[in-house]
Amino acid sequence: MSRDTLEKTRRLLKSSLPEDLGEAAPAAAELREVLNAHAHRYYALDDPLITDGEYDQLIRRLRNIEARFPGLITADSPTHRVGGAALTSFEKVRHPEALLSLGNAFDADDLRAWHVRCRKGLGLSDEDPLAMTCELKIDGLAVALTYRNGLLQQAATRGDGEVGENITSNVRTIGAVPLRVAEGRTPEYMEVRGEVYFPLAGFAQLNEAQAAKGERAYANPRNAAAGSLRQLDPKITAARPLSFFCYGIGPSTGDVPDTQSETLAWLGSMGFPINPHATRFDDVEDVVRFCAHWSENRDNLGYEIDGVVVKVDAFDAQAALGAVAHAPRWAIAYKFPAREATTILRGIVVNVGRTGVIKPEAVLEPVGIGGVTVSQATLHNEEYILSRDIRIGDTVVVKRAGDVIPQVVAPVPAARSGTERIWSMPTRCPACDTPLERLEGEADYYCVASDCPAQFIRLVEHFVSRNAMDIEGFGTKLSIQLVEAGLVSTLDDIFRLDLPGLLSLEGFAEKKAVNLLAGIETARSRTLARLVFGLGIRHVGKTVAELLVTRFESIDALVKATGDELLAVDGVGDIIAQSVVDWFERDHNRELVADLEALGVNTRRLPGEAPPAVGDSPVAGKTFVVTGTLPGLSRAEAQNRIKAAGGKVTGSVSSKTDYVLAGDGPGSKLQKAQALGITVLDQTAFESLLS
Ligand code: NAD
Repeated sequence: MSRDTLEKTRRLLKSSLPEDLGEAAPAAAELREVLNAHAHRYYALDDPLITDGEYDQLIRRLRNIEARFPGLITADSPTHRVGGAALTSFEKVRHPEALLSLGNAFDADDLRAWHVRCRKGLGLSDEDPLAMTCELKIDGLAVALTYRNGLLQQAATRGDGEVGENITSNVRTIGAVPLRVAEGRTPEYMEVRGEVYFPLAGFAQLNEAQAAKGERAYANPRNAAAGSLRQLDPKITAARPLSFFCYGIGPSTGDVPDTQSETLAWLGSMGFPINPHATRFDDVEDVVRFCAHWSENRDNLGYEIDGVVVKVDAFDAQAALGAVAHAPRWAIAYKFPAREATTILRGIVVNVGRTGVIKPEAVLEPVGIGGVTVSQATLHNEEYILSRDIRIGDTVVVKRAGDVIPQVVAPVPAARSGTERIWSMPTRCPACDTPLERLEGEADYYCVASDCPAQFIRLVEHFVSRNAMDIEGFGTKLSIQLVEAGLVSTLDDIFRLDLPGLLSLEGFAEKKAVNLLAGIETARSRTLARLVFGLGIRHVGKTVAELLVTRFESIDALVKATGDELLAVDGVGDIIAQSVVDWFERDHNRELVADLEALGVNTRRLPGEAPPAVGDSPVAGKTFVVTGTLPGLSRAEAQNRIKAAGGKVTGSVSSKTDYVLAGDGPGSKLQKAQALGITVLDQTAFESLLS
């Protein structure tokens, strides 16, 4: 059944929308069948075959067809339903008031259109304000907690909205859920609604523990939360680090606040965990900015969010707007663009990195994620593949987030046909056939041959790359070509290249060769930090190279540096110091730097390259948080400038923060800074502080 559903799913995801009723009727029927099958796997079995993004894409397709051909809507359409019934032996509980789902917005225009609908529904004029709260959409499991006289009496899942499961014993094990609220603070009867979630820190550990027990890895923290909460033995739930945020109340007696924002504050004052980022806005453009900000910064949180929930703040306005079958009209979920997709793992190849590290890489059936086609993804190392039981031929979940290289997250075992193959790590280097070695305490295998051609090609690529010697027009292809032709066999050979040599290569006309030589000429006068980074010394990344240059003014000084002298550099620890000493101790490396110097490559610190001595700068020793968008200055640049001036950059605002550098759309960090009385700098103030 799974494979059949998957095949239909793949076809539906790729097909175009039906043109007429004749095509639309069977398409809608097939979508309903496939969506129902996926909903069953997701809600009843906690074992989805596809990602949420793919499910949402199919739902949108069905909604689209139903909007154009309303006659095709059926009473049981998945577009008109909340969740699904769970397949567990927990006692069933009927909710006194249904727990609904949420309508979705996928871009700023959807949010604006929802805002217009709400204003219209409330009969507001252009001048009338409409307050809205924005809350992070925690990717977990909805629960309804019933309190009587301040005591937790019952906890239930959302289920199909009307009927959920009684999971009280399990929820009692979650530390963040108050079992008792101070007497006199709560109404006699109160329902608190919120999301149980799996913090990211605990998620990686859970999957390791699952692997150690030979049990399946959870595809994502939401599945882990659902799986952990639905354990029949509360001891298992107790052993999982689940947490909880509450976001509202259900039916309650006595006096309760009049707005959503006051309700959050009220719940917080009673000791319920409230997400600190919830913010109230009057202007829909602020809502749009809040959503964009969290779409960019979702990885800075310790838990997963899949969007932002925007709610009309006043309860009387919510009541006036009411609900459609499965969702309230007064709220909308802005969903972030999908970052995950499922596809087939066609094969696994291993690549040799410049340090000799052997990295397994997935060869995938190409799949679109967030507008980019992904056909390769990292598989990290042997242990990662084996512990997750990722097999060749498997359907796998692939994640592509921000600038990070796409990675295979987990297999979908339920989609197996039996023809999948277990992969094993090669024992020899694919480039030079040297037996691979695994260093003690490391997950990676290495090719330790000093003359391994694959390592050398990676080193050349690294040496000429943008953050190192930055030679225009010199990329992977040329690195391979030059090494294979024997024109470059040590890094200094790059500075010996000449016109006749280049013209002897395939694809080289005079103009291209002259341009490349001009690029190489410019590279002779790059900064010392770029050269040190470019040499490819293990553990010496760009930032460490910059730090080394603050203390050592030339390559010669680095050659002579002792371990203790290196350790005296702030930010350099034992591992880095040892690696630098080892590198410069090798004769061929000393020869290389001498040859580079003889070929006119700059090996000294350039004027202005080192930052002012710490203590001279008002930034030295100060802690910064950067938030929002700065016109003409990327966040990475701002952070580098702070670090170069001796300051520190951290991700979250606390009482230890000295300055918050805030650009456009700063979000909650700015609010927190203001609440804590921390100095907030705009870009102009920042520039003048630095200068
Ligand atoms: P939803 O998850 O998109 O939104 C509603 C839920 O948001 C609420 O029930 C609540 O649990 C949660 N929420 C989090 N923070 C909140 C906040 N601050 N305020 C209010 N609610 C908050 O709606 P849904 O109906 O549960 O949608 C189903 C989800 O399940 C979709 O993401 C869908 O992709 C996924 N799904 C996936 C599959 C699959 O096969 N992969 C199958 C079925 C459903």
